[in-house]
Amino acid sequence: MNIDLHCHSSASDGALAPGAVVRRAYGRGVTVLALTDHDQLGGLEEARAAAVECGIAFVDGVEVSVTWRGTTVHVVGLRVNRLDRVLQAGLEQVRSGRVRRAKLIGEALAAVGIEGCFEGALALAENPAMVSRTHFARFLAQQGAAADTKAVFRDYLVPGKPGYVPHQWSELADALCWITGAGGIAVLAHPGRYGLSASALGELLAEFKDGGGDAIETVTGSHTRGQYREFSELARHFGLAASRGSDFHGPDEGAELGSLPALEASLEPVWRRPGF
Ligand code: AMP
Ligand code: MN
Ligand code: MN
Ligand code: MN
Repeated sequence: MNIDLHCHSSASDGALAPGAVVRRAYGRGVTVLALTDHDQLGGLEEARAAAVECGIAFVDGVEVSVTWRGTTVHVVGLRVNRLDRVLQAGLEQVRSGRVRRAKLIGEALAAVGIEGCFEGALALAENPAMVSRTHFARFLAQQGAAADTKAVFRDYLVPGKPGYVPHQWSELADALCWITGAGGIAVLAHPGRYGLSASALGELLAEFKDGGGDAIETVTGSHTRGQYREFSELARHFGLAASRGSDFHGPDEGAELGSLPALEASLEPVWRRPGF
């Protein structure tokens, strides 16, 4: 079994259409795939149809943007009912500020002498409502502002850099309610990426579990090998299941579909949880 429970399509900030993501996963030996676009369920129908054609097991997913104590964190929902009205309305609310934020990012970059970024990013977003920092990064890399998208993030798009604009996403408790209310299982995405202190991380995990969270990603494209171990330990400590997902966004952009190591054997995989 090669299970990949986190990836993106052009319905959010992925480079490939939903069906193309599924076919690529199949081609790389993935047997169970969840598509988890940011704040967005619009790619699931196409992806599921492609999965039926290829014969790979498909999981409806979503990755919800949350602001927790001023830090952006991501919560993946797996096996959500994509027709659930409360989930749909919640995600629509989360999406609603994106274009406004993107304009502000464009203005911030213009202030340091890089013009036309809002228009450039928007033109790269298949779904304009989902214009994201990833689209800015791709545009800026194409313009030669930095060597690649990773370098663009480091130099322009993260807190403390000229193109960073803070934004209020959803509340953790709301995101958990939307996911679990839609029959889904909530997974804290790439917990090693948030730069939280050990004590803040412990508080986040406790709050996440109290609010109905089930699992954390231990093996993700955003973690180092050392973090696979660190977060496996935390999953055991907090009694959380573990998930594995590449967080694939496109060819040559970070981890490839189905490419990561297996979960540590002593962990409970999220796909064994009741309801999965
Ligand atoms: P946004 O939701 O618009 O703030 O964009 C967040 C997205 O940017 C994430 O989902 C990642 O795809 C991407 N991202 C964030 N930080 C980095 C980074 N340091 N390097 C590459 N991509 C990143
Ligand atoms: Mn992304
Ligand atoms: Mn994420
Ligand atoms: Mn992601």
